[in-house]
Amino acid sequence: MTNPLLEVKHLKKYFPLKGSRTDYLKAVDDVSFTVNQGEVLGIVGESGCGKSTMGKTLIQLFTPTEGEILLNGENITVLSSKKVRQKRREMQIIFQDPFASLNPRMKVFKIIEEPLVNFRIGTKEERKQRVYDVAKQVGLTHKQLERFPHEFSGGQRQRIGIARALVSNPKLIVADEPVSALDVSIQSQVLNIMKDLKKELNLTYIFISHDLSVVHHFCDRIGVMYLGKIVEIADKHELFNNPKHPYTKALLSALPKSHPLQEKERIVLKGDVPNPANPPSGCTFHTRCPNCMEICKVTTPVLKSISDKHEVSCLLYEELEERVL
Ligand code: SF4
Repeated sequence: MTNPLLEVKHLKKYFPLKGSRTDYLKAVDDVSFTVNQGEVLGIVGESGCGKSTMGKTLIQLFTPTEGEILLNGENITVLSSKKVRQKRREMQIIFQDPFASLNPRMKVFKIIEEPLVNFRIGTKEERKQRVYDVAKQVGLTHKQLERFPHEFSGGQRQRIGIARALVSNPKLIVADEPVSALDVSIQSQVLNIMKDLKKELNLTYIFISHDLSVVHHFCDRIGVMYLGKIVEIADKHELFNNPKHPYTKALLSALPKSHPLQEKERIVLKGDVPNPANPPSGCTFHTRCPNCMEICKVTTPVLKSISDKHEVSCLLYEELEERVL
């Protein structure tokens, strides 16, 4: 069996709260998963659930508070900042807002070339050829490379973001809501480019999104996040056809009525997402869960395997397991 490309073990990212030495916002709280070479892992959840922070922590834009991130078996959390910068060549990110992530004063050619210069890759001529090659892969012409970002539409700007992420030949790409700022018609164009590139280059993606339809279209496996934790992770078909966690069921039930994977009955969750700086005791979902039991208020469930391709963190299934035994 081959080793996974990425192994994440008990990853935590806590931010200290202003004016306090003891209180933290637990944006990512004990998350573990693996991603194989060539796989697309989707991460879904409502805004504020910690998915973007997790993406940025994975590629070390944020320093983890605790835990390990192994890329091809190497623990990158213990590397010096110089080594981490070098490693970033192998892990790139595509941001949600392509306009904000592109330097408005730089021509597109320079924007795409910049990672090659930063990582000291190739001669000037080799870099030029690499920029042309990657621009072609995302559908940008040589002429367009001489323009500035403001001269492009949202979809074209995201092509520039993808080209910049690809230019250093990374093994892993974290795509953080890469199409959510785009019109629906443009979304599928950009997703198709990303899909074609994945096939062509055997890329591995972590695809972060709040949109279940997009994730269903694009991903092989899906992890559902709630208040900094992964509460369910499964093969895409398994998750959509056989969701186990009450939160996943609620998310699926909110899909548009016309969607073939919509749950029959709409499950409306009570209240808002709690403050991650002061999460509820026990199962952090208990304040909104339609299946909440007394034990859920005091006992924290852990992510457990319920079948080959399916893990869930819910006491309903822990109880079931004990009863069966
Ligand atoms: Fe709901 Fe309890 Fe399961 Fe949490 S552990 S999701 S509160 S049933």
